[in-house]
Amino acid sequence: MGSRILEGLNPGQARAVKTTEGYVRVLAGPGTGKTLALTARCAYLITMLGISPRSVLCVTFTNKAAAEMRSRIQALCGGRVEPFVATFHGFCAQFLREEAKHLGFPANFALADVEEVKEMLKPIYRTLNINGRDLSLQDEWNYIDLVKSTRLSYVHELLSEDSGDLLREAQTQDDPKDRIFYAYLYAQRSTATLDFDDLIAFTLEILHTNKEVRDKWQSRLEYILVDEFQDIDKLQYELTEILAGGHHNLFIVGDPDQTIYSFRGADVKLFTDFPQLHQGCAQIAFEENYRSQGAILDCAYTLISNNPDPGRVHLKARRTDISEKNFAQILPPLKKVPRESEVLDAVRVIAQQGKLGLEVPQKDDSGERALLTPLPAVVHSGSEILEAEYIAREIGLIRQKAGHASVAVLYRAHHVSREVERALLRRRIPYRIMSGTGFFSRAEVRDVMAYVRLCLNPADDRALRRVINEPRRGFGARRLEKLARRAREKGCSLYEALKDSFDDQALLRGTTVRLFAETLQSLHAYIAKLKPTAALEQVLNAFGYEEYLKDSGQKERLESLATLRSLAKDFETSAGESTSAADFVTDLALYQSADLNAPRDAVRLMTVHNSKGLEFDYVFVAGVNEKLFPSAKSETEGELEEERRLMYVAMTRAAVQLFITTSMAFGQSDQENTRKPSRFIEELDPSQIAEMGGSFARRGLVSGGSGAAQFKPGDRVFHEIFGPGTVKEVRQSAGEYVIDFPALKSPRTLSFQAPLERLDGQGSAVSVDCGSVQ
Ligand code: ATP
Ligand code: MG
Repeated sequence: MGSRILEGLNPGQARAVKTTEGYVRVLAGPGTGKTLALTARCAYLITMLGISPRSVLCVTFTNKAAAEMRSRIQALCGGRVEPFVATFHGFCAQFLREEAKHLGFPANFALADVEEVKEMLKPIYRTLNINGRDLSLQDEWNYIDLVKSTRLSYVHELLSEDSGDLLREAQTQDDPKDRIFYAYLYAQRSTATLDFDDLIAFTLEILHTNKEVRDKWQSRLEYILVDEFQDIDKLQYELTEILAGGHHNLFIVGDPDQTIYSFRGADVKLFTDFPQLHQGCAQIAFEENYRSQGAILDCAYTLISNNPDPGRVHLKARRTDISEKNFAQILPPLKKVPRESEVLDAVRVIAQQGKLGLEVPQKDDSGERALLTPLPAVVHSGSEILEAEYIAREIGLIRQKAGHASVAVLYRAHHVSREVERALLRRRIPYRIMSGTGFFSRAEVRDVMAYVRLCLNPADDRALRRVINEPRRGFGARRLEKLARRAREKGCSLYEALKDSFDDQALLRGTTVRLFAETLQSLHAYIAKLKPTAALEQVLNAFGYEEYLKDSGQKERLESLATLRSLAKDFETSAGESTSAADFVTDLALYQSADLNAPRDAVRLMTVHNSKGLEFDYVFVAGVNEKLFPSAKSETEGELEEERRLMYVAMTRAAVQLFITTSMAFGQSDQENTRKPSRFIEELDPSQIAEMGGSFARRGLVSGGSGAAQFKPGDRVFHEIFGPGTVKEVRQSAGEYVIDFPALKSPRTLSFQAPLERLDGQGSAVSVDCGSVQ
C-alpha cells in the first residue's frame, strides 16, 4: 500500500511525504507537485503509520480543492477512509458546531454567505432610512468585513449580555456605516446567524479563553497539513499555530510567487520566515514541473522575473506526454495566402512550425524524443466583442478536435466574463461559471425574464409567484397562498383570481398589487407586438424593478440588466425585422437550459483568484489590458507585484496551450474607449510568444475608436458563399457590417470576423484575419 503511495514521486516529494514529525516547509513553484505531495503525505500517515484519519487535518483554500483532495486521499488509501480535509472556514464551522455553546451561542447557528448577509442588510437600510444610492450594499459589506477582521473585540459586543446595547449603538453612531454595522450585529444575535468572518473570530475567542477546549483540540490534531500557505493571513496563522501547539507536527507548502491575497490581509512573511520562527524546521524544495509544457514555463518565468526574489528557480519541464497531435488539432487554419511575414505574426503558424521548418522541435532531457513546444499565443482583438468571439471560436475548434481536453477562461475581474459568456452562448458551447453565479441563475435575470413571460402570458402562475412581491408590494407568502386557494377553487390562473379580488379588502389592504395587476393588464395588451429591446424597456420601467435595484444600491444587479439589454439587442439584430419579445424569451429559455445543464466537461469561467491550485489543458487569460490586468486600483509597486503574481498564477494553470488575449476598445458606445495591452505583455520576451495583431498594438498604431473594422462603406468585398458584395454600413460598437450582396434579395449583417476578402482594383484578394487591428 505504502509503496503505491510513494510510487512515481521524485526524491524531494518522497522526502516531504516521509518526514512526518516536526515542522516541515516545502517551498516550490507552480505545478511541482506540492498539493500532490501533501495528499500523499496524508495517505501515508493514515495507511503506513496507522494514524486515525480524524487526527490528520488537511487545510486547503477552496471547497472545490477540499473535495478533490478528499477523494484523492481516499483513492490512495484504497479503503473507506474519511479524511479530515477542510478550508479554514469549514474547519471553524465544524469546530463551532461542537464548541459554540461555550460562548453561549447556539450550536445550530445559521451560516450566512455574502448574498444572505446582503439580504439581512436590506431591511436594516429600510429601518434606518438609509438609501442604497448613498451607500451600496457591497460597500457596507466591505466595511463590516474590514471591521470584523481587524477588531476582534467586536465578538464581545456581539455577545454582550444585553442585546439592547447593540440597538442603542445602532441609533447613536454618527457614521451610517456604523449604524448599520451595529444593527446588523443585533440582527445576527437575534437570529443566531454567523457570517464567514465570525467563524474564525469565534473559534479564536474560544481557543484563547477556554483551556479545556484548547487542550482537547491540540491533543486531537496530531498532524496538520496546510496547502497554499503563502496566502495565509494573521488570524489563520494564529489558528494554525494554536492547533499545532500540542504535537508540533505542522507541514506547510507554498510558493511566494503565488501570493495573491495580500490585498485581503495575506502576509507572505508568515511563510518565508516560517523556518526562522520554528526551531528545527525541515526545508524542502521541488524544482521540476509536471504540469505545463516548456514554452509556457519559460514565458511565465520571464514575467515573474520582473518581481524581486533572489531565490527563485527556473523550473524544469517534466511533461513528456504532449504530442504534436495536441497542437496541430487546436489551431485554426492558416490564412489562404501565407506570406512569411504574416505567418510569423499569426498564431496559426504554430501547428505548421515543423512542416515549414521554422523552428527545430526541441529535444527533451533524455535526448531521445522530439517534442514540439508551441509558443503561448498573445492575441490582440479590436474590441471586447471580437476578443470574446476569438476565444469562443478557438474553444469551438478545441472541442471539436480534442473533445476531452479541459478548457478554462480566466479573468482578473468578473465583468470580463460577460462578453465571453455571450460569445459562448451564441455558439452554444456549454460553460460553467465557477466564481459567482452563472448569468441565467442570477436572481435579477430570473426576475426580469419572469416579468416578460408574465406580460406575454398573465396565466403563467410560476412567473407571477416569482415577481408579485418583488419589489415588495406588501403581498407576502400568506396572502399569496390565500390567492392560490381561491384560484384553485375557481379553476383559474392566479392573475384572474387577483383581478376578481380587487374589492377584497382583507386580501389587498396595505398592498400595491392592484397597480401591479393593472400594469400587467395594460402591458399584456401590446407587448407581443414590441421588439425585444422595447419590451424589455417597458417591463423594467413599468413595474419599477430597475428603480428598485437602484434604490437598494445593487450595482452588480444593475449590470446584469445592462447585459440583458445587450442580449436583447444582439438577438434583435441577428434574428431580423420580424422578431418579437416572445421569440426572445424562447431563445433565452434555450440558452438558460444550456447553462444550467452544462456537462462536466464544460468550459470553466472563473477569476484568476479562483483558479488557484487548479490546472487545465487549455487556458485563455482574457482582458489582459492596462487598467484591467493589472487592475486600475493597483498603484504602488507592491500592488503591481501582486498583480504580476496573479498573472503568473493564471499562466501557470495551463498544461498544453496558453492564450493571452486583449482588446483595443470596450463599451457599447461609439465613443473613444480605447485601451492598451497590459504592461505584462510588454514584459514577455517576443521570442517566447506567438503574437497576433501584436505588431500593430505594440507600435502604437491603434489610435482610437473601436477600430476593428477592416472595411469602410463602399468597399467591395468577396464572401465565399454569397459572392461579391458592397459594404453599406459599418457598426463599430456591434462589430458588424451591413453588406449588399447582389446574389441575395436583402442585405446581410456580418460580424467583423466574417470570412470576407477585399476585392481591390486589380482583382487580387487579400485575406482578412480574425480580430486583428488596422
Ligand atoms: P500549484 O502551485 O499550482 O498549486 P502544485 O505544486 O500544487 O501546483 P500539483 O497540482 O500537486 O502542483 O501537481 C501538478 C501536476 O503534476 C498534477 O497533475 C500532478 O498530478 C502532477 N505531478 C506532480 N508530481 C508528479 C510526479 N512525481 N509524477 C507525475 N506527475 C506528477
Ligand atoms: Mg497546489
